[in-house]
Amino acid sequence: MQSNDFIGLKIRVHGIVQGVGFRPFVYTNAIQNNLTGWVRNTSNGVEIEVNGASSDVDTFVSAFHLSPPPLARIDTFKTEQCPPNGYETFEILESQLIPGEFLPISPDMAICKDCLREMFDPSDRRFRYPFINCTNCGPRFTIIQDIPYDRPKTTMAGFALCPDCLLEYQNPQDRRFHAQPVACPECGPQLFFQTTNQTLAHQENALQMARQWIKDGKIVAIKGLGGFHLACDASNQDAVKKLRERKRRSDKPFAVMTFDIEQIEQHCELNEQEKLLLTSNERPVVLLDRKPESTIAYEVAPRQNTLGFMLPYTPLHYLLLEPEDLVPDVWVMTSGNLSEEPIAFDDMEAKERLSHIADGFLMHDRPIYMRVDDSVSRVINSHASVIRRARGYAPNSTPLPIASPPIFAAGAELKNTFCLTRNQYAFISHHIGDLENYETLKSYEAAIVHYQNLFRIRPEYIAIDLHPDYLSSQYGLKRAQNENITLIKVQHHHAHLAACLAENQWTADEPVIGLCLDGTGLGTDGAIWGGEVLSGNYAGFQRAAHLSYTPLPGGDAAVRKPARMALAHLWKSGLEWASDLAPVKALSTEEKSVVHTQLEKRINSPETSSMGRLFDAVSAFLGLCEEINYEGQAAIELEIAADKNEDGIYPFPFVDGKIDLSPFWHSLSHDWRSGTPVSKLSARFHNSIAYLCFDMAKKLKQETGCRTVALSGGVWQNRFLFQRTVRLLEKAGFMVLFHQKIPTNDGGISLGQAMIAAKYYQLSMIGK
Ligand code: ZN
Ligand code: ZN
Ligand code: FE
Repeated sequence: MQSNDFIGLKIRVHGIVQGVGFRPFVYTNAIQNNLTGWVRNTSNGVEIEVNGASSDVDTFVSAFHLSPPPLARIDTFKTEQCPPNGYETFEILESQLIPGEFLPISPDMAICKDCLREMFDPSDRRFRYPFINCTNCGPRFTIIQDIPYDRPKTTMAGFALCPDCLLEYQNPQDRRFHAQPVACPECGPQLFFQTTNQTLAHQENALQMARQWIKDGKIVAIKGLGGFHLACDASNQDAVKKLRERKRRSDKPFAVMTFDIEQIEQHCELNEQEKLLLTSNERPVVLLDRKPESTIAYEVAPRQNTLGFMLPYTPLHYLLLEPEDLVPDVWVMTSGNLSEEPIAFDDMEAKERLSHIADGFLMHDRPIYMRVDDSVSRVINSHASVIRRARGYAPNSTPLPIASPPIFAAGAELKNTFCLTRNQYAFISHHIGDLENYETLKSYEAAIVHYQNLFRIRPEYIAIDLHPDYLSSQYGLKRAQNENITLIKVQHHHAHLAACLAENQWTADEPVIGLCLDGTGLGTDGAIWGGEVLSGNYAGFQRAAHLSYTPLPGGDAAVRKPARMALAHLWKSGLEWASDLAPVKALSTEEKSVVHTQLEKRINSPETSSMGRLFDAVSAFLGLCEEINYEGQAAIELEIAADKNEDGIYPFPFVDGKIDLSPFWHSLSHDWRSGTPVSKLSARFHNSIAYLCFDMAKKLKQETGCRTVALSGGVWQNRFLFQRTVRLLEKAGFMVLFHQKIPTNDGGISLGQAMIAAKYYQLSMIGK
């Protein structure tokens, strides 16, 4: 083909291509290359037709790969030659709807550099305007009520554009062309500052009042993107203590926010990957190693060696944290809720629920449609691994390794997410929370309805956890009955394994080795599993090995009080409850006698192979944490104590599918008696579990020839254990699959459930 041939080309683009400045990009690109034709949104992507010299068309096409709009994500890009149609101009056409089709929706994105520059430019008409945004940044998912994504279907519907904003909105060459949340001080949302019963200030005065109150040591509720934060001066010990008391949250760390990276460096160690993660458009909270000289109050993250930092992600945050003498550098920014409840997002509801926590409220009048928490992530072995997947990530789709019918997967109980599938995509919800109270259940149900509607999904299969008491299982069961949908029950650790395989795009049929280590999951034998070595794939699994069963004296009581768990392990191993042992000292005589009876008579003491509970028991035995007030606390404090230079290990003999814990407990108590420091004992325990995992993998490899190991379950959030285990496995030539974009904790369960249901569907089709 001659480069000066005059040709026509049709292009179809799928992915995140709406609400991200895609059409202005296409328009500008076409004009620059002297092309004529048109571009339009459809309900499942963008269509383009261009006429022009073939070399110009080539340049036009290559720009999609070389310099696409920053927030766009191109999943497919199809071109097809067509005869030139004699277009005289390039135009943006009306959107075209295709019934039943769906379009990925962009998550909320941090303010872009251009908007940030304008906001701090005194000559700009949006100077210091806290709701500045453009097609490259700003609210998305949290304000969208329905599709297609147009202003009337967002919570911006009530704000009529002023003439200046309208010009920008209509100009294809403007950065704000069809930016649905576009706004300015003349026509957009406004700030105001309130106490429970009166409004004290508006706009800039409201902002300054909030800063003043923080400076004065008060607690301010701040309405943000996906909900309310509770803020205070992170270096003011009294303020942080007051916040803890009022929020009824004893030890669970608070996230903190500061204006820029340089300030974070005064408090934490930072490597390049951590800097990238902190400054990414998603702006998660990043867990960082705390520097000893940090001036942040101890109460922000008691008994921790890390701090959860995030950078501002809305224009409002930048204005609030703008450096100035006497205004605190670092603010606590924790979810606006009572402990364990979902984040508040509705104005009235927030005022009601937070009035006894916050002294004042910094409000605005842009409604939040979908509540979404901050995401939490950390860098391990130079890759980001998400712990809580919410703002900035949801509702991005996750590609599935096999095509799937429409499935609803209900997820687990704690750290719940649900998952909906469609074709090659899984839509994993944002973090919903622990489904243990009415508020959270309500937000779970509302989010399911919303996702089904946005992505046009009507489930044909429903997958739930085996555990009949999970509110998510009950919800799924009820729906399956009411709507006459096929129900698939999935064992919890099988779901962990499948989630890990799915995230890694695993398609092979041979079973892999699954090291599924967590706190709790109902097993097929009715016991509580959690220290599981599986051999399996999406289609099924075998339980190759597990920690030998130990009673859980008092059920949930043993989860809240690791001291009980330590006593159960000692009892099981035939070790005496000597009066100088930490867990023995931690419990009253009465409680010990109750535990003893529970163990001896098997009252309310279900059997468990839980690895999480073993970590708890060791933590309590070493006197680190005998009672917890947030999930995972005892294990976290055990990991913090571990001496990184200690290489010792304890044996875990393997007999008839069971891993015997008793030799370990005998050696541990012997070493403790002989005065070995707790830091060494903790490290030896961690090392032992790493070697146990390694030995199990080697054993299964011998039996099955399998060289692939999948790590899943909340225990793998333990960085010490994760790093040592991966090192051992990789050195021996194993391929190790683990989680990065999907949480390794129960936040990943819904994806695994969905994959297992998709495989079930696939196999049942082959059978027909
Ligand atoms: Zn912007
Ligand atoms: Zn305006
Ligand atoms: Fe789990």
